Amino acid sequence: MSHPLNIRGGRVIDPASGRDEVADLFVADGKFTAAPAPDAVEIDARGLVVCPGLIDMHVHLREPGHGAKETIATGTRAAAAGGFTSVVAMPNTNPVADHPGIIAWMEERAAETGLVNVFPTGAITVGSQGEQLAPIGAMASAGIVAVTDDGRCVQSHEVMRRAAEYAGMFGLPVLDHCQDASLAGPEALIHEGFWSTLLGLPGWPRMAEEIIVARDAMLSAATGTKIHCQHLSSAGSVRLLREAKAQGIALSGEVCPHHIALTDEALQGYDTSFKMNPPLREQSDIDALLGGIADGTIEILATDHAPHAVYEKEVEFAAAPFGIVGLETAVGIFCDILLHRQQVVDLPRLVAMLTINPARLLGLDRGTLATGAPGDVTILDPDREWTVDKEKFASKGRNTPFHGWKLRGRAVRTIVGGQTVWEVSA
Ligand SMILES: [Zn+2]
Repeated sequence: MSHPLNIRGGRVIDPASGRDEVADLFVADGKFTAAPAPDAVEIDARGLVVCPGLIDMHVHLREPGHGAKETIATGTRAAAAGGFTSVVAMPNTNPVADHPGIIAWMEERAAETGLVNVFPTGAITVGSQGEQLAPIGAMASAGIVAVTDDGRCVQSHEVMRRAAEYAGMFGLPVLDHCQDASLAGPEALIHEGFWSTLLGLPGWPRMAEEIIVARDAMLSAATGTKIHCQHLSSAGSVRLLREAKAQGIALSGEVCPHHIALTDEALQGYDTSFKMNPPLREQSDIDALLGGIADGTIEILATDHAPHAVYEKEVEFAAAPFGIVGLETAVGIFCDILLHRQQVVDLPRLVAMLTINPARLLGLDRGTLATGAPGDVTILDPDREWTVDKEKFASKGRNTPFHGWKLRGRAVRTIVGGQTVWEVSA
């Protein structure tokens, strides 16, 4: 049992209740309490932001099956180091998390080795092959918080419709990696545009993403099921999402750090640290993503933390796997770009996009500082300047495009269930 905590004098931001004030926050027996405990550990949070523990709803922990890339132990340490108290694990493991036995195994493994909360998702289709629906009901009973075939978008609209109907019966949202395979074939490597032409690399057009966003809007409207578009990268997707939400459709979207920090111009050097799916696009897309965040069209921020072993990325461009790590740089990138440089959100909005908004979508009892809720807290220093050093990552992955970047804003302490699991020294 952890010691009670009295977190003193910080700027307490709890978007779930609209609270934003300099105050004390108390945790005892792993939950928030209204009054301080006499034998508590005192934490001085003066000059810092005290907010609900951050939730990353898009994380690849790689276990079971890809322990050379990451494990639940190392991935959750990376989460803690980045300020996240909860991660939502994608099911594209080996074997694919497409039945309740694997979900139970992951939950046990997370309880044994995880440093933060792990919420599993289940595959939409068996083996994420896009053909036969996975046993979503049985996986719901086993504790999944959503279904997704992330990495392999379900191409059949009929299968996706049945998935939305089936998931909706259990109140589960469907998360979609929006990508039409006929427009973005298996050979596509980067965004289709000026740089793909110049570099001679096959490209993905924006509409490969946008067509599926439009499809998902229609399926959500038809079924009433919440469909969430993962890692949006294209300006047109933001427009489609905005229109769908204006019609009252339960469609939502998330944005990842790299898609607002980098354009496809970064591919000039054929550096595989910039190879991801969906790809880096153009400045006009970044502007649209920022606009979508500013006007509330996009309500969730996530990382798509996708670790790979160093040797896997140190190959010719076409042969390298897609994806970058994100857990340990996300808070820095989001604070630096959204809060300081572009000023598209204020702190309460930024906190909401990383806490209560994903918690509400997924039905988690997290993302709030309400009395009685699990005592997950992130203490932020939004002005702290630091330099990204990939060699110091807790993740096994070193595949980041942000090595050496100077960022403003960092999580300085991560508390899960009243227990400090990570602290950055002064
Ligand atoms: Zn994906």
